[in-house]
Amino acid sequence: MALSLYDTLTREERPFEPRDAGKVAMYVCGPTVQGDAHIGHGRAAVVFDVLRRYLSWTGYEVTAVQNVTDIDDKIILRARREQRDPAVIATRYTRAWNRTMDALGVLPPDVQPLATGHLIEMQDLIQRLIDQDKAYAAGGDVFFRVRTFEGYGKLSRRRIDDMQQGEDIVDADHKEDPLDFAMWKSAKPGEPAWASPWGPGRPGWHIECSAMAAKHLGHGFDIHGGGLDLVFPHHENEIAQHEAAHGDTFARFWVHNGMVQMGTEKMSKSVGNVVPLEQALADWGVGPLRVWYLSAQHRTPLTFDTERLRDATTVHQRFTTFLRSARRAAGEVEPDTEVAAPHIAAFRAAMDADLNAPVAVAALHELVGAGNELLPAAERGEQAAQAAVAALADALIELGDEVLGLHLEEALTDAAGLEQQLAALVESLLEQRAAAREAKDFATADAIRDQLAAAGVTVEDRRDGVRWYVSTASPAGR
Ligand SMILES: [Zn+2]
Repeated sequence: MALSLYDTLTREERPFEPRDAGKVAMYVCGPTVQGDAHIGHGRAAVVFDVLRRYLSWTGYEVTAVQNVTDIDDKIILRARREQRDPAVIATRYTRAWNRTMDALGVLPPDVQPLATGHLIEMQDLIQRLIDQDKAYAAGGDVFFRVRTFEGYGKLSRRRIDDMQQGEDIVDADHKEDPLDFAMWKSAKPGEPAWASPWGPGRPGWHIECSAMAAKHLGHGFDIHGGGLDLVFPHHENEIAQHEAAHGDTFARFWVHNGMVQMGTEKMSKSVGNVVPLEQALADWGVGPLRVWYLSAQHRTPLTFDTERLRDATTVHQRFTTFLRSARRAAGEVEPDTEVAAPHIAAFRAAMDADLNAPVAVAALHELVGAGNELLPAAERGEQAAQAAVAALADALIELGDEVLGLHLEEALTDAAGLEQQLAALVESLLEQRAAAREAKDFATADAIRDQLAAAGVTVEDRRDGVRWYVSTASPAGR
């Protein structure tokens, strides 16, 4: 059993073998720091976080690098709008990005290189390409000569004549060929600029990743990740710059995550349906949000809607409810690890198959199902059942938290999480009660009310609706 990964470059799933035995070097394209992270950013973050956690859990020593694009046209634009220095904008949103990623339970990168801190490496790479006639300076800009790189288009599989770099027209004036793309951009008046052999300017976006990935991970590092929307031109250009300059392989596996959709629509600023990640975290909590992110295989599209997030919340609650009962029922009995072994194996098999998280989560459901069946016996104090339940709970915490980052343990001790769970339960009972009353089944309605009262929940019927209180707490009804 070993991990296999779908590689966008070869268009096939193949066994993962690292460059250096026991070690994995991975690079994931980071944010352009000019605004708040949205749920699309969150998907890439969770997908590669889980890949990294899984590799670590299976015994690899992982080095994870994610850059920060802290100089870019969009940052300059925002700075101009706010009449601030672009460095102020970049610092503000770098901090915000890191805060949000922490809140999302994403492990921080081992190295978080800033573009503005790697100008020497970028300029060296550009110079190397100029020296080989694979790039040219024109009017203070430097362009990559695309047609000199034979492998151009191998990642995106586009025909060379169907490609457009999507750069602004100003650059186009100096280009020999519209296919060429900028690696160095001359500074326009009032823009931040760094000295270079080609005049003051700033690096293009693509050169950053080529230079910084190779600097921190070496040539031919193991995994390069990012969203599917980065395949062309960004990743195509990253490959071209490195491989044309050095003549060796840039990265060995290209892993891409699918996009987040809003219903049937694409999420985009122009449609105005972008959900900030902070908002989603506040609305749903990190555990349920991550369950949702993992509810689709990482290469397929993932739909954001209330129903799916509710489903994810239910899954998360099912897991934490089991854990709570299991801890209570198992007491101090030693776990019987053999009981958990087949569940762990099923989880691993799913993850090994191109990181199939939905199937891995289904394996956790099976585990919880098995545990729930044993709970009554464990609660009666039957030792074998207690030992089994203890092992299943341990395995759920290990796989759910250590590998998938579902924050299960945290939810157990988190008062807010408990309160949320209680509220969901009370509200579902109140819905049943309302339905019973509507059907004039007052016996059932009263029985539900009495049940709630016995659990310390007082229900009040008011003119403006139903309110409920936990006897020691302040009103929590809505
Ligand atoms: Zn990149």
